[in-house]
Amino acid sequence: MSAYDYDLFVIGGGSGGVRAARVAASMGKRVAIAEEYRFGGTCVIRGCVPKKLFVYASQFHEHFEDAVGYGWNVGKNTFDWKKLIASKDKEIARLEGLYRSGLVNNGAEIIESRAELVNAHTIRLVKTGKTVTAEKIVIATGGAPNLHAALPGHELCISSNDAFDLPELPRSIMIAGGGYIAVEFANIFHGLGVDVTLIYRGKEILSRFDKDMRQGLHNAMVEKGIRIILTDVIENVEKTAVGGLLAKTKTGETIAVDIVMLALGRDSNTKGLGLEAAGVDVDQRGAIIVDEYSRTNVPSIYALGDVTDRVQLTPVAIHEAMCFIETEYKNNPTAPDHDLIATAVFSQPEIGTVGLSEEDAAKRYSELEVYRAEFRPMKATLSGRAEKMIMKLIVDAESRKVVGAHILGHDAGEMVQLLGISLKAGVTKEDFDRTMAVHPTAAEELVTMYDPSYRIKNNQRI
Ligand code: NDP
Repeated sequence: MSAYDYDLFVIGGGSGGVRAARVAASMGKRVAIAEEYRFGGTCVIRGCVPKKLFVYASQFHEHFEDAVGYGWNVGKNTFDWKKLIASKDKEIARLEGLYRSGLVNNGAEIIESRAELVNAHTIRLVKTGKTVTAEKIVIATGGAPNLHAALPGHELCISSNDAFDLPELPRSIMIAGGGYIAVEFANIFHGLGVDVTLIYRGKEILSRFDKDMRQGLHNAMVEKGIRIILTDVIENVEKTAVGGLLAKTKTGETIAVDIVMLALGRDSNTKGLGLEAAGVDVDQRGAIIVDEYSRTNVPSIYALGDVTDRVQLTPVAIHEAMCFIETEYKNNPTAPDHDLIATAVFSQPEIGTVGLSEEDAAKRYSELEVYRAEFRPMKATLSGRAEKMIMKLIVDAESRKVVGAHILGHDAGEMVQLLGISLKAGVTKEDFDRTMAVHPTAAEELVTMYDPSYRIKNNQRI
């Protein structure tokens, strides 16, 4: 009989924590998992899932417009924000229920309380003050929006957390940031009829993406009517006498809006967790430092998911949890593989991307071939929509391997999931060329770009 109350104690009921707890419990381990808010974490409760539901909601007005070119007379339509929120809440509650039942059915104990470390094997449950012990502890407390406390008026602004439950749909919004969340919400709010201004400090939105994706999406957003301000930041936010907000920018613009949303990155949820008491090291930004097996410097304590700030994505947290199980409970040391992670930005149009951007590939390989197609998708012909799709393959000229694949357009996220398998398997450009097209699709462009659009040698386009 173990000297501890549990074999495994997981702090945090998000994607990574629940997966680790559920699978360990299914193997007969004595497992408890503590969550202070709702099971499902950022992804299910106030991230990926409700975001995607909002994306669907925001796309309908374009569907209605497009339908006309196909002979439909859609008639007058209206949008009910409160109804969307209620439907979303119902779906989130259903998913949370599944997370809970998955844990319970596999024998994990659910503890609805904040949990903090006391030492390397002891956890205090804040709700009751009780302490429990565990042989191993996994910290999977995720992250939270950076509230940008240095910004005067930041307390008047909202984060993505609040955007999911606004009592009313605003008439206008200013969104600060140029990353995933800023761009996705700019498109969501615009699609729902809100006047949107996005402000970003850099020269182009989505700094870590391929330049064609960044410019292509920027152009599409502006074409729709979203205002994008570059190389500027909000300097302060004030209330106006009539109840709205006034955002002043560094370059001297004053913009009146109903709501200002900050999407300036997310910080690890480590404050007050008792890491110091347990001796767990964190980096300068408060993220828990782990080795390749998600082990902290304290042998009994592990951390996975956003709290470690490796790659802030749900599937990565789940993968890290599965690697933890393999390593610790199956005697099969498995380090998470963070290479070639396919990802999508659910903007409108979407971006799907896997591997290196042209710019990053040019730094790594001496010679590249770039295959690029820009075209109007078939659906846009009868609808009359001006939107373009862009597809791009980056090929290492020496090994012939496709080292980056990028898509801007409808269903780019779906397409890049499949491309991710090919790139992971080390696909060459010749494999693409040998693949028969599926006709008529947009994706067939990926296997019919036979000649390079241009080459890059020693970081110079030729
Ligand atoms: P991102 O890291 O994507 O973007 C943060 C943005 O804020 C960047 O544009 C950054 O600029 C800017 N920024 C940071 N600090 C400042 C500052 N002090 N002043 C002005 N601008 C600043 O973070 P998000 O918050 O958008 O999303 C968090 C994470 O969540 C993402 O990294 C992603 O991993 C995940 N996510 C994934 C989604 C998906 O898979 N579809 C959807 C939503 C989130 P710069 O680029 O110049 O550094």
